[in-house]
Amino acid sequence: MRACEDGVVSNLEPHPAEEETGATVALALRRDVLPGREVALGKYTVVHRLLPHTNRRMVGAWCFADHFGPDAILAGPGMQVPPHPHSGLQTVTWLVDGEVLHRDSLGNLAMIRPGQLNLMTAGAGIAHAEVSPDGHGPSLHGLQLWIALPADVAHGAPDFEHHPDLPSRGYSGAYVTVVIGALDGLESPARAYSPIVGADVRLEADSSTTLRLRTDWEYAILALAGDATADGVSVTPGNLVYLGDGRSELAIGTQHGARLFLLGGEPFADELVMWWNFVGRSHEEIVAARGAWMAGASIAGGSDDSDRFGVVAGYDGPALPAPDMPTTRLKPRDRHGRPMPDA
Ligand code: MN
Repeated sequence: MRACEDGVVSNLEPHPAEEETGATVALALRRDVLPGREVALGKYTVVHRLLPHTNRRMVGAWCFADHFGPDAILAGPGMQVPPHPHSGLQTVTWLVDGEVLHRDSLGNLAMIRPGQLNLMTAGAGIAHAEVSPDGHGPSLHGLQLWIALPADVAHGAPDFEHHPDLPSRGYSGAYVTVVIGALDGLESPARAYSPIVGADVRLEADSSTTLRLRTDWEYAILALAGDATADGVSVTPGNLVYLGDGRSELAIGTQHGARLFLLGGEPFADELVMWWNFVGRSHEEIVAARGAWMAGASIAGGSDDSDRFGVVAGYDGPALPAPDMPTTRLKPRDRHGRPMPDA
């Protein structure tokens, strides 16, 4: 038996129990529809933020998910995100339409187009800018996702990878591209630091298929375009459907065609502090990262750690200053979103 049948109300139990259904035992699997919220990104872009959500901070090591567009940008500057820092995470940029120029403090300059992956590993610190290039196309549509790094690599060396070719496979009515991690025997060449998957799924009109999942991983799915169902629940742009763990497969289908993105991975055990563009494990770690960025960006109030994030050469304009720290201490939260009790 399902915990809910209307497809909207979620099963709020943190650990769905096994339910006796006559001679068989069925697991009540989760299908939580989490509405995204609109957030301004830079001056010209509004995104749907799907993660973190109040009651769902993470899916595997995925800790942040922004869906931007489709935006008609011919008359405007498009995406204009000035240099800003990251630490403790990887950023994944994935486009459905348009192009984005990435520039970072390691000296990388990379244009990303649909079907290609830009993967930036921040480690201890990196800075980057992401802009729509001069002469950009009429539309911009895609995802920016963050992956939390495990503790042993969260303070490691920064890195950047551009992957123009990713493994893909056709299923009946579907075409799956594994952007990072692994799905059903397909493995992305992108460097991941925890058991994870991010996969693009195109569904033809009037089609349905079954994705093979791992029961020990948790998953969520979103629609980039079109309308679909996943395990009977509607998946539409602007929402994230959290699917929990315990699934060996996922039935998806569509009437008019859809472009979906599957997020999944081993549940992430660490409690994290996420603030601005930093992922850490303590309030002090975030304060130190902010201080180092402000020092390096030549903004008053910084520390001596001024070269931690480096400089984004070739960007025409000022870097983004960090916001003020909140007046209360930042508390680590677990993957469900609950702050940890005070020690
Ligand atoms: Mn960024």
